[in-house]
Amino acid sequence: MGRIRILSDTVANKIAAGEVVERPASVVKELLENSLDAGASEFRIEVEAGGRRLIRLADDGSGMLRDDALLAFERHATSKLADVKDLLSIATLGFRGEALPSIASVSRLLLETRSPEEQSGTAVEFAGGKLLRCDEAALGAGTVITIRDLFFNVPARKKFLRSEQTEIAHIASLVTHYSLAHPGKTFVLRHNNAELLSVTPVATLRERVFQVFGSQILDDLVDLGDRNRDLNMPTEPEEPQFTRRFRLRGFVSGPQVQKYNRNSIYLFVNGRLIRDRLLLHAISAAYHNLMPPACYPFALLFLDCDAEEVDVNVHPSKTEVRFRHGSVVHDFVRDTIRDILMAQRPASNIPAPTPPQPGAGLPFSEFSQRIESMNFPSFSAAAASTDTAVLPEFILRRPVSPEPRFEFEPAPPTQKLAMPDTHGPLFPDAEPLSPESLDALSDLRPLGQIHDSFIIAAGRDGLWIIDQHVAHERILFEQVLAQRASGGTESQRLLVPLVIGLSAAQQIEYARIAEELDALGFETEPFGNRTVAVKAAPAGIPAPEIEKVLFEILEISERELRGASLDDVRRAMAASIACRAAIKINMRLEPAKIDWLLRSLAATSCPMSCPHGRPIALRYSTRDILKSFHRI
Ligand code: ADP
Ligand code: MG
Repeated sequence: MGRIRILSDTVANKIAAGEVVERPASVVKELLENSLDAGASEFRIEVEAGGRRLIRLADDGSGMLRDDALLAFERHATSKLADVKDLLSIATLGFRGEALPSIASVSRLLLETRSPEEQSGTAVEFAGGKLLRCDEAALGAGTVITIRDLFFNVPARKKFLRSEQTEIAHIASLVTHYSLAHPGKTFVLRHNNAELLSVTPVATLRERVFQVFGSQILDDLVDLGDRNRDLNMPTEPEEPQFTRRFRLRGFVSGPQVQKYNRNSIYLFVNGRLIRDRLLLHAISAAYHNLMPPACYPFALLFLDCDAEEVDVNVHPSKTEVRFRHGSVVHDFVRDTIRDILMAQRPASNIPAPTPPQPGAGLPFSEFSQRIESMNFPSFSAAAASTDTAVLPEFILRRPVSPEPRFEFEPAPPTQKLAMPDTHGPLFPDAEPLSPESLDALSDLRPLGQIHDSFIIAAGRDGLWIIDQHVAHERILFEQVLAQRASGGTESQRLLVPLVIGLSAAQQIEYARIAEELDALGFETEPFGNRTVAVKAAPAGIPAPEIEKVLFEILEISERELRGASLDDVRRAMAASIACRAAIKINMRLEPAKIDWLLRSLAATSCPMSCPHGRPIALRYSTRDILKSFHRI
């Protein structure tokens, strides 16, 4: 007799459970997706002990017919796919027919369900994958699934569960984000009898964002509106070209909201919550030069496209997708977000003298729960482990006494609670400026300089403080890019060529980008082995800095941006040149120079942050001034 045997269903289900049911949040995800597929409009979720003791979801969806209620627990039993053709255009969240048998194999499960077509309902009970009973029962229409003692028969998996707080945070984040995807539906989540989320139907995504996050967060977000675009699809040369409609909706934060990891980026593709590197990259690319490199925005994006453009059958937990025309999708997302950001041009506000109380209007317990859920919003271990926290550059550079300090103190530490991880701590009250405020930037009246570093100016909307170095950096950055585009870069000829030695890696990079260096205003020539002679450099870079700029550019192109588009490399180079050529701090400026700087800044396309993402201007609004003097 041969040695190969077919595994029993019980064993096969447990193996599948290993992939599908990673933690309590994955159970909630599968149940929610089933209820959504069943057309439900109300989702009531009860959890105990982080989901180990109990997870119950009650929905008002289609329910199941008696025969289906048992069949649903057979492996590969699904009502959603009939044929292999259907795999090419999956319109439901589920399709693998794996979730229910998998969950039933690692828990004690009770299904109570009734379809409106039948008079009585059905109750089915399983323990560790074994059917205990299947009875007729008097039930309302819809489905209630109760899962107790998750992983009771898989001790290894149970050991890997994190604290109750962490597990419920994953669940809360998941439910919160599905609720954002369906503003017209009711979601209630209770944990150990405390209500964590309760939202009733509203008409728009904006109202749902308000229900979930409150007005403070909403103020920091930019509405993408509803962007439809017909994109031409690249096909094989002999095939006809065709177009596909893509739709992008949602909210992104302005560049002043800087998160230390990607956990605040939520992506839905055709209504499915996913993690996708291509889309994450598109978002980072949209913020390129608006934010420090290791910072991430808040983003809530809904991308909809023809089901044939996206393969969702990539992973058992269905959290990954593959696009048929990835680069088209990538550029569409990047450009749409970038255009919106550029149109906004927000600047940072100075923190108000009395910070708002933590979570004003919310009981503290609920508020801290929300914070928890925002800090751990990923629902798979893989996603949770992607990032290490990196502080944005301007926090690292926070001045320590006796160096210059602002009169307006950074907010006290409690402020962090009030705005959970949403802003760089120095500018907790940052909010996008209204169009009038942006106009105010163009007629600022300079009052002087403090510490020969910061320009003070009166605006019609309050007092402005502008960092002279980063302001000039932004001006030069845009100038270099514009000149590069028109082929008219200004350069300065050196009296004596500068001879620079290169490492082997630098030599390779140099050969790769020599032409681009030329176009940016350098004139260089290979000069013997691993040596290059610089005869001219972009105008404005002080001679002693030329070597540094060149090394910086080689490093940029070598380390960070290998594989990035030429456009990205070009922008990084321009940023490096602008930084070296810009006016430094601790430098007294003539009034005429200050005037020029402010006018030029107002004329830039993005006066709110420098190419490395640091804020350029702080504003102390007239309203805050009046408030501080108790005049309002
Ligand atoms: P899939 O969702 O991939 O089809 P599942 O194992 O998650 O597989 O579910 C199996 C089947 O059970 C579904 O196809 C659906 O017909 C039925 N089902 C599951 N949950 C519900 C529910 N809440 N309401 C109605 N039907 C459900
Ligand atoms: Mg399912």
